[in-house]
Formats: sequence, C-alpha cells, structure tokens
Amino acid sequence: MTDDNSRALYDRALSVMPGGVNSAVRAAIEPYPFFVQKGDRGHVIDADGNRYIDWVMGLGPLLLGHNLPESVQAGIQQKASEGPMYGTPTEIEVDLAEFVVRHVPSVEKIRFVNSGTEATTSAVRLARGYTGRNKIVVMQGGYHGAQESTLVEGDAESPTPSSAGIPQAFAEHTLPVPFNDEDAMREVFEKHGEDIAAVLTEPILGNHGIVYPEDGYHEFVREITTEYGALHIFDEVITGFRVGGLGCAQSEFGVTPDLTTFGKIIGGGFPVGAIGGRAEIIEHFTPAGDVFQAGTFSGHPVTMAAGLETLQFAAENDVYAHVNDLGEQLRSGLTDIVADQAPSYTVTGTDSMFKVIFTREGPGRDELDGQCPAGSRQDPDCPRYEFSPKDAGDVKAAESDRWRRIFWGQMKEQGVFLSQNQFECQFVSYGHIEADVEDTLEAYKDAL
Ligand SMILES: *Cc1c(COP(=O)(O)O)cnc(C)c1O
Repeated sequence: MTDDNSRALYDRALSVMPGGVNSAVRAAIEPYPFFVQKGDRGHVIDADGNRYIDWVMGLGPLLLGHNLPESVQAGIQQKASEGPMYGTPTEIEVDLAEFVVRHVPSVEKIRFVNSGTEATTSAVRLARGYTGRNKIVVMQGGYHGAQESTLVEGDAESPTPSSAGIPQAFAEHTLPVPFNDEDAMREVFEKHGEDIAAVLTEPILGNHGIVYPEDGYHEFVREITTEYGALHIFDEVITGFRVGGLGCAQSEFGVTPDLTTFGKIIGGGFPVGAIGGRAEIIEHFTPAGDVFQAGTFSGHPVTMAAGLETLQFAAENDVYAHVNDLGEQLRSGLTDIVADQAPSYTVTGTDSMFKVIFTREGPGRDELDGQCPAGSRQDPDCPRYEFSPKDAGDVKAAESDRWRRIFWGQMKEQGVFLSQNQFECQFVSYGHIEADVEDTLEAYKDAL
C-alpha cells in the first residue's frame, strides 16, 4: 500500500490550510490523512488507488452510501443545471419541509440552514428569545458543532470555554452536566431553574463514543424541563433519519422534545442543518417573530433535492432494514471477537451506528458469564451493564491513544477505514453488503 500521492497532497495542503485540513478531526490520522479520490458503494478509493471499506460515511450524512440511486442523482442534477440558487423561495423547500413534518413526531414547522452548527446556534438563540432566559444545560462530551454557547467544558459550578477565542462570560451561561445523571440535572434546575432557557442534548451521545441513554432518562429530562418552563431540545444531527428510521430517535424513545436540530442525512450529503419543533415556538424566528435568523444559502435547491430524494428513497425501499441488519451483524460479530480477544472492551451502538470502546476498567476473560447481546444498551440485566459507558467521562477514560495511534492504522492496513479517533461514531450505509461486514470482522480479529 503506497501513499505517495496523499503525502504530496498533504504537503501542499499544509502550506495553504491550517493543519492542512478544513475540519480539525480529519488531521487526527497520523502521520497524515489519506486523500479520497472517489467513493464506490460502501468503499472509498484514495489518491494512490488504495481501496477501503468505508465506515465513516462522511461522518454521518451518507445514509445511502457513495453511489446515489438514480432518482437522487436526477434530482440533484436537475436543480444544479437549472441555476444553483435564487434568493427567493422554491417549491422543493416546501416539499422537504412537508416530508419532515409528516414523519417526525415533534416537528410542526421547520427552518432550514446550512450546517448542524448553524442549526444548534439558531436553536439556542430561539430558546433564549422564546423564554427570555439566558442559561442552557448541555451534556459533558456532547457535541453541537463549532459554536460559542456549547464549546464549553467543566461542570455546572465552573464552566469554562473549551476553545481559545471564547469569552469566559459566554461560558458562564452554559451548564454542563454528565449524561444519564438525573441527580446532577435536578441540582442545576434547583439552583438555576428560573434562568434556564433549554436543555440541549443528543438522544444518544454520538461524538464521544456511543453512549446510550438509560431507561427513563429522556423522559426525566422532558418532565423537569416542562416543570421549570425550559425548552427540551434534541440535537438529532447524527441520529435524525438514522436511529428510529424516518421518525428519528425521538420516535424510538417515545419522547417529544420542544425543538429538534437536524443536519447530516437531511441534506443527502450536501451542506445542511435545520431547526424543527412546535409551531408556536418556531414562529418566533424572523420574519414571523423577533428572533433573527437568516442565510443566503438556506434552503439551497440542490441540497433540498438531495435531502428529499434521499429520504423518499428510504421511505420506499428497504434502506433502514438493510443498514440496521448489517449494523446488528457487525455489533454481534464484534461482541464475540471482543469476548474472545479483548474482554475488557465494550461494543456500543444501535441501528446503523457502531463502535468498540477500549474500556480500561472492564472485566477480564471468564469474569462474566457472557457479554451483552450485540453491544451495550444500558440493560441492567446484562452481565456487562456496569461496564457499559454511562457518560462521556467513561469513554474519556478508555484507551484512546491505543485506539488512534495503533489500532486505527492496523485496520487501515487491512483496507478498513474507521473514524479518525476513539470518539467519533461509525456508520453503516445502504451501499454496504454482507461481504463488507465479514471482511471488517476479520480485520478486527487480526487487529484487536
Ligand atoms: C455533526 C454534528 C453537529 C455539527 O454539524 P456540522 O454540520 O458539522 O456543523 C452538531 N451536532 C451533532 C450531534 C453532530 O453530530
């Protein structure tokens, strides 16, 4: 496997782009990332002609894999060839909005934007404008994009910016609590309840390992936000149209948030974000209301066509059955491999998301009478319940250097492209086939 072209490209990139990349995580691969030339179903081919099974799938957006179905391609090409955009409304925005409203339980109205970051930024502004309050509660290790209000670390007592360039005064309005911790949430509401505009959380932590909610946790958050008059915001940028099919994670968990942010899949592989929710709240966006929100590219016809055709294809074909079935095969295969070769590690994920967390404190071989079937879903009856990550701290304590610096490269050598570090999720697409799963499990067997 040679990588001369990727090395030369990275060399050029370093001269003209910070870190040689346009998004930080892409440079996590050492000594340098490979440059992708093109995709092929569930695979990518790099600039040196090497082929990899691709479980990164654009870090989430590519539900259908790299080869888009005819109807999706046709929709994109038609919109692109008619002139890219106009600064006026177009019919396709209404079509996609209607589709989302029809399928996602909590969404009565929606505003499209251009990225997940823009969606969460606007959702936070909307929550503050609607409630007249300033503080937001977020989960430690949750990710809501590159925005000032959520790039915050520490705890609710002493939140601090997690990036240079963010004033401490901004961080003071953000209260991070551990995921799955009802007591911590109750405490911040007892202390700050009157000032809390919203709780913003991913339904499943998808950017910090995969951390599944405990039974009843989201119902609890729904109740306490209602009690205090704060909004409950689900950030479904990853889980939207992936977990729970077209109803998204909120339908799987049976919880109805006030607002939902979308991104990734809803744009069919093109830049996108959206904020959906109760009409009465969404109506506070300008021009209907007084919370300013605007974007030159928002509702871009090419993106809207890609999103609509992708979701319509998923509605009319066996997309979710296919990706969830392969996801299950991966998780159960990995569970067997881990039980045999690395018993302290934990297989996580659901639907078409999967990851192996290199848990340090897990049990040794023969210490448990069995693994949890096909990964860890916070089932108290499963023998590994105690060791399955409950919050971001549990994932952070795992062997992330081994994951990124040793294991990732061993998988790449065998032609398997996994996400760039221990924390980012991996995704199954409609382009993957059973042979991809089998080859990948063989590679794990070798590398673990
Ligand atoms: C990816 C992601 C974002 C940010 O979306 P961008 O399009 O990268 O700005 C926000 N929230 C979650 C949960 C995400 O996974």
